[in-house]
Amino acid sequence: MPRTHTLQHGKEGKHLSPYFHAREYKGKMSDIIFRRILRLLQGGDFDIVVTTKTGGEAGYIDYENNLIYLNPKLFPVEETLIHETLHILKPELDEQSIIEMSSLMFEHLDEKRRDTLIAFIQALAVGYRGVKSNDLKASY
Ligand SMILES: [Zn+2]
Repeated sequence: MPRTHTLQHGKEGKHLSPYFHAREYKGKMSDIIFRRILRLLQGGDFDIVVTTKTGGEAGYIDYENNLIYLNPKLFPVEETLIHETLHILKPELDEQSIIEMSSLMFEHLDEKRRDTLIAFIQALAVGYRGVKSNDLKASY
């Protein structure tokens, strides 16, 4: 990140703003959590169903059958996948915290990561209802 460097080593030697620190920290946190999400998905414990019939929910988890349901028509599907996997990774967090965390993570996703999540959905999908695999596209 060249812009970061300029800020950090600027000739005036100014201190970084608290906002900058927060942003940097959140970026690192996003990286770590993103890797945990991929590890969870790679672990093979959960399959995915892509469907437009989710009763108005962007997604939800069926823990009895280890299925993550995603509705790509209601919300960017990558963000919903992040949201649902965070529920699995962090069962102690309430809905509001999960929403904050997943939208933060989603903001930090570059195109490559969005594509990676779409590829995971396509690889792990065991069913499609109302949507086809080819309809799934990353939102950038
Ligand atoms: Zn939720």
